[in-house]
This record gives sequence, structure tokens and C-alpha cells, in this order.
Amino acid sequence: MAYKIIASTCTACSACEPECPNVAIREKDGAFVINPKKCTECIGHYDDPMCVEVCPVDGCIVIDKSVSRYAAA
Ligand code: SF4
Ligand code: SF4
Repeated sequence: MAYKIIASTCTACSACEPECPNVAIREKDGAFVINPKKCTECIGHYDDPMCVEVCPVDGCIVIDKSVSRYAAA
């Protein structure tokens, strides 16, 4: 699965963007979005998802259950 940003709660602080090891996060229409094709849940990079770690808004970044589980190649 990938993580996703709940746009309505995102303050566009941009803290998450530089922390993503896969450059999966970008700004779009005043909020930030995660490209599910690029998000690997930080597996292989960090023990915890970095975007969730740095986001100051609780519950803003959540697992996107509509995307299949990430599997390392
Ligand atoms: S979980 Fe990791 S790979 Fe996925 S968007 Fe967040 S920082 Fe990037
Ligand atoms: S860290 Fe959280 S509030 Fe800040 S831009 Fe990223 S998702 Fe939005």
C-alpha cells in the first residue's frame, strides 16, 4: 500500500516533501499529494514512513487501502 495525504487537513507546510526518499510527494492545488506509484511506504529506507513522522497534523497522512501492498523487488 501507499500512503496518501488527506487534502482537507493538509496545511501545505511542505515539511513532508523533502523527506520522501522516493520523491513521491509534490504540491498540487494548494495541498500536497503522494504519488502512489512512487510511494514504497519507506520500506528499505526507514523503519517508519518519514512523511508521517514529520507531518505536524495528526491523521493527515494515512495508508491508502485502495492501493495494493508495496512489495520490494
Ligand atoms: S511513506 Fe515514505 S515513500 Fe511513501 S510518500 Fe511517505 S516518505 Fe515517501
Ligand atoms: S507535512 Fe503534512 S501538513 Fe505539511 S505538507 Fe505534508 S501532508 Fe501537508
